Amino acid sequence: MKAALSHFTHTDDCSTEQLHGLLQLAQRVAADPSAYYQKLSGQLLINLFYEASTRTRVSFEVAAKRLGMHVVNIGTAGSSIEKGETLHDTFFTLQAMQPDFVVVRHPVEGTARDLVSLAEPGTHIINAGDGTAAHPTQALLDALTLQQHFGDLSGLTIVMAGDIRHSRVARSSLALLRRLGVKEIRLAAPADFLPGEQTVAHDRVFTEFDQALEGANVIMMLRIQKERISGLNIPDAGDYHRDWGLTPQRLALAAPECRVLHPGPINRGVEIASAVADGPQSLIRLQVRNGLYTRMALLLALSGGNHAAM
Ligand code: ASP
Repeated sequence: MKAALSHFTHTDDCSTEQLHGLLQLAQRVAADPSAYYQKLSGQLLINLFYEASTRTRVSFEVAAKRLGMHVVNIGTAGSSIEKGETLHDTFFTLQAMQPDFVVVRHPVEGTARDLVSLAEPGTHIINAGDGTAAHPTQALLDALTLQQHFGDLSGLTIVMAGDIRHSRVARSSLALLRRLGVKEIRLAAPADFLPGEQTVAHDRVFTEFDQALEGANVIMMLRIQKERISGLNIPDAGDYHRDWGLTPQRLALAAPECRVLHPGPINRGVEIASAVADGPQSLIRLQVRNGLYTRMALLLALSGGNHAAM
C-alpha cells in the first residue's frame, strides 16, 4: 500500500486505493500465511472488548500471535471496568504500556474514533465494532471471501437479509460493497428491521424475502440484534424462521451458484436453517478463516514498512 494508514475505525478512513491495497494484501496472506509469520515480532497488541465476541477477538489474537506479537486481552469482567473506571481512564492505563495496537469493541458508536483522538503516536487504533455503527474488519473479510469465490464483484447481485437496521456489519459491508462496485444490492427485511432512508436510498428494498431472491448470487444473512433493540417487539423465533429464515427451499429461488454468508454468531432455526449453514453453498466457515488473514493483513499494513508491500 502506498499511503500510510495509522488507524482503522471505519472503511471511510481509507481511500478506495487503500481498500484495494488492503484486500490485495489479504489475498497474499491467504495464499501463503506462513510467509508472514513473525513479521511483527515483539510488538504488543491489546484487545479491549466491552462486548462479547468469539470470532473477532480470537482472530485478532491469533493474527497477532502468528505475526510474532504479544497479546493482552481486557474485557469488562475481571478488570477495573467492573469497579467503575471510565473508558478514557482504562485507555490511559493501557496507553502507558505503549502498545503498538489497541483493538476496541464497545457498545457506544464512535468509541474507536474517540480513542484515536487520545492515542499517542505509535499506537494504532482498530475498531472491532462500535454499537450499530461500524464493523470494518468484518466488511473487509466479507469482501475478501467474495473476491476469492467470484473474482470480480461488479457482476454480482447481493441480497442482505434480516435485522439490517441494528447491524453494524450491514452498515460497514454495504458501504464497502458499494465502493467496490457491486452491480446490485437488495435489502430484504421486515419493516421494523429496515435501516433509515439514507441507506435505503441506494438500494432496492424488499419486505417479502422470496421476492428478493430471484437471480441473487450472494445472500448475506444477519441475526436479530436482540441486545440492541429497544422499543420494538422481538419476533417469535418460529414465526421469524417461517417468514425470514434462509431455508433450502428459499435458497433454491436464488441463482444456482448462489453463495451464503453470515458474520456469526448464527442462530440456527431462526434466521438460517442448519441445512443451509452447513450446506455446500455456505461460505460461513471460510469467512472465519478469512477473518484471520484479513486481520493479519491489516496489522501488517498499519505497521507500515516493507511488510505491507510483500
Ligand atoms: N459478530 C457481529 C458483530 O459483532 C455480528 C453479530 O453479532 O450479529 O456485529
